[in-house]
This record gives sequence, C-alpha cells and structure tokens, in this order.
Amino acid sequence: MPVMKQSMTDRIIYLDHAATTALDPQVFEAMQPYFTQLPGNPSSIHQAGRAALQALDDARELVATVLGANRKELIFTSGGSEADNLAIKGVALAQQRLGKGNHIITSAIEHHAVLHAVEYLQQFGFEATVLPVSERGLVRPDDLRAALRPNTVLVSMMYANNEIGTIQPVAELGAICREHGVPFHTDAVQAAGSLTLDVNALNVDLLTLTAHKFYGPKGVGMLYARRGIPLSPQLNGGGQERQRRAGTENVPGIVGMAVALNMAEERRTQYAQHCTTLRDRLIDGVLRTIPDTHLNGDREQRLPNNANLSFDGIEGESLLLLLDQKGICASSGSACTSGSLEPSHVLLALGLSHDEALSSVRFSLGKEVTSEDIDRVLAALPRMIEQLRSVAPWYQERVAAMPIA
Ligand SMILES: *Cc1c(COP(=O)(O)O)cnc(C)c1O
Repeated sequence: MPVMKQSMTDRIIYLDHAATTALDPQVFEAMQPYFTQLPGNPSSIHQAGRAALQALDDARELVATVLGANRKELIFTSGGSEADNLAIKGVALAQQRLGKGNHIITSAIEHHAVLHAVEYLQQFGFEATVLPVSERGLVRPDDLRAALRPNTVLVSMMYANNEIGTIQPVAELGAICREHGVPFHTDAVQAAGSLTLDVNALNVDLLTLTAHKFYGPKGVGMLYARRGIPLSPQLNGGGQERQRRAGTENVPGIVGMAVALNMAEERRTQYAQHCTTLRDRLIDGVLRTIPDTHLNGDREQRLPNNANLSFDGIEGESLLLLLDQKGICASSGSACTSGSLEPSHVLLALGLSHDEALSSVRFSLGKEVTSEDIDRVLAALPRMIEQLRSVAPWYQERVAAMPIA
C-alpha cells in the first residue's frame, strides 16, 4: 500500500483485515471494463444493457457455485449491513404478515448490523431473545433449543465473529432451527475465504456476505435467501433482483465480488494455513514475552486470521496510537460515544470487566502479511506495553502488591 508508506524503509504493517481488505489487482482488472467500456444498465434492452446483464448473470452463477446455491436465491446489495438488515427485517415482517408470530432470536456478540436491526424491530412490537455466549465466545446449542417458541419467526447467529474470531457451530444451530421450521440467518462476512460457505452443509436459509472483507470492492454485498423463505423487500422501487431489492445493480462491484469470492474459495486452504501460522506466532509470542496478557475467544474454534488480546493495565486505544506511530495498523472493539470510550459489547458478553474490555486490541491478518511483519510487531510490543503500564497507577499498585516470586 504505497500511499500509506511511512518512510522510505518502513512498510506499513496492515493488521486490520477484519475491518477491510485491499482490492486484489486481479479483481480490479475484472471490474474495469464495466466502468467505462461497458457502462450499460442491465435493465436496458439494447446491446449495452445486454452486455451488462450478461456480466451480472455470469457473476451470479459464479457466486451461486461457491455457495452451492441456485442463482435465483442471491440478492445483491450495497454490502453486509444492508444484507443483514434485509434478512432480519425482510423475514421478520414477511413472517408477521403470514401470522407466524413476532419473536426473534439472536446472540449477544452479533455485528451491530444485526443487533440494531433487531432492536429497531422491537420498537414495532417484535420481541427478541439475545442468547449469551460462553466465556470463550461460543453460543451453546442447548440455549437456542430452549429459547425457541411457537411464535419464533427468525434466528440470526453469526458464523464467525468479527472481533474475537470465534466460529459458531452454525450447522448444528441451523439443524435445530430446521427441526422447528424456523428460518435461520447467518452473517458469514468474516468466514468468507477461511471457512466453507456451502449453504446446504451449513443448514442455513439466509447468509450475508460483503466483498470488501475478501479482497473485493467496498459497497457491494449479498444475501443468500433459500427458495421459499418469506422475504419482504426493504428497498422499494424497480423490480431488480426478482422484486427483492430495487435499484440499478452495481455491475462493476458485483463482477468484482464474484471474482474475489471465487479466488477466496480457490485459495481457502492455503490462506487458512498461511494465516494460522502467523496468528499462532503472534499469539504465542505475545503471551510468552508480555506478562498479564490474555487471548480473548476460544483458542481452537477461531478464525485463522484473528488474534484479540487483552493487556492488563492499559487502554487499547492508547496502544493503537503507539502502534500506528510505528506503522502498524490494528484495531480495538471500543467505540467513542460522546467523548468517552465504550467497551465492546462482544468482550463484555464474554464476561470481561469494563477495564479488561478496554484493554484489548484486535490484530487481524491477511494474505500479504509476512512472518517478518509479525516479528516486527513482537519486537515493538513489549516496550509499548511497558511504557503504557508505567503510567497506569492501578497496574503499578498491583505489581507492587504482588509477592516476589
Ligand atoms: C464488516 C461486517 C459487516 C458490515 O459489512 P459492510 O459491508 O461494511 O456493511 C457485517 N457483519 C460483519 C460480521 C462484519 O465484519
């Protein structure tokens, strides 16, 4: 990423792939003709329109193949947030109209695109059960079983968590929903490129993806909706996407997403191996060299590219600034609301205290990260942590109170 270059010698170390990834040059190349040479609207009947429609059809077929789905079951959207909103509101409202009920089940660690869509529906008479997770960040299938009611109209549980990387037992959760005849949605945004997206193996009825998390373009995503699942459109207008999502299709974006998804699927094993090796090098290195650090989320049921670590006594935000000065991009789950830091809802759901949650940093790896990059991070971290802890009064007090080993 030359534009972000810090100095002539230091390369940026980008460890925030869970936030977004750089467009793959091959994907960019596949998209380019649809900006300038082939700018048609797929709804137009002339040859420019037909060329665009052909590109759209090809992209749809390619995505359907990766998911083991039928092309008619795909709805292209502006990204993951829109697809999550369409799944939640679209199914809940359609089910309500059919007189099926008004109860939704989700989990405490979902992305805000899911949680806030559910909260929105609660203003309009829907009820929600938000399942807790174990201290390792996993939903217990028995909790889902116990939460299902005769009036449950939708269950939404993410495939892999964006903050702590935990992988949920989606196929098992889906099987429970199917036994009860309840539509099951999964936000698979973080899973793409690392885990299988086969909608039949996963027992899912609805599945969300967004291209910019797997080296595709930003602003384009999709919802898979199994045939026969009631879905009420949330964007009204033209009849695009089989009447389920109005608006002229983002042709270059959709072409890019399809190519990126296909590449991600082809490279999945290799990518997972590459990231797992680096992830473990990072986690083991940090835990070995820096005292009072913890890994958040299950060690095994975990995305290959995720390392979420808590460093006692520090604020994750401060560490991010020090890392950034060294050209290292990472992230924390906390959000700044009205000038004060709000800890991540995901970390709180694991049972972390307010302070522990604020002391966490997420490193999310990707295909271009090297072991030299990880070693640079491992070399830089101990001094940064020491520096931050030296000005953290409670950490100093705790260390002083500790018996000398
Ligand atoms: C990034 C992300 C989203 C949102 O996708 P956008 O395309 O940015 O709207 C939704 N869910 C998860 C798990 C994500 O990581």
